[in-house]
Amino acid sequence: MHSDPYSIRLVEVDSEKRKPAEYAVRLSSHICGIKPPSLRFFEECAPSRDAIWLEEPAFAYYQNGTISVRSNLEPGQMVRSVAHEVKHAAQSQLAMRTLQWPYSDRSCERDAELFVLEHFDGLKRTASEEQARQYLNALAAKWSLPTSEKPVTTRQELTPAECRKLGEQLLARATARLIQRNGIKKPTAPEYR
Ligand SMILES: [Zn+2]
Repeated sequence: MHSDPYSIRLVEVDSEKRKPAEYAVRLSSHICGIKPPSLRFFEECAPSRDAIWLEEPAFAYYQNGTISVRSNLEPGQMVRSVAHEVKHAAQSQLAMRTLQWPYSDRSCERDAELFVLEHFDGLKRTASEEQARQYLNALAAKWSLPTSEKPVTTRQELTPAECRKLGEQLLARATARLIQRNGIKKPTAPEYR
């Protein structure tokens, strides 16, 4: 075990670096059937008052709906690490839904490791960004996701016009159902005069 404290700070990374990691978050979340956690990046730093302290060195960790991943990982490792943390997010979301925590720490870890083994075993830790992207594209196709890098979470977004149309359709359907259920009739016959 590492006994040294490990201090990190959050960093911004350019969009090229974010892409494979974000793609891995969306895809892994889709596979797990969860809402994608948010993603941020960190780097190791000298101990200071402003640093974030971890108990031990980590490539990535999950906490409160956010995955934090080390910014200087190779793309293959980054994707694998992110996928591992998405599984932890899924465990956490399941626990919140059921208000039960059915796992021990150890089985949580095994569960997350198995998730990576099952879906990302073919992706080398040393894979380049291009190799990682190809791997993710193939996996996305297998899981019926668009092969583009468009955000999976926005693929069902509607334009304002489509939104309005859908709203009108839903309202018309709901109104029709109400009329049917309550037996409301159009006031054409003088029944209640
Ligand atoms: Zn873990």
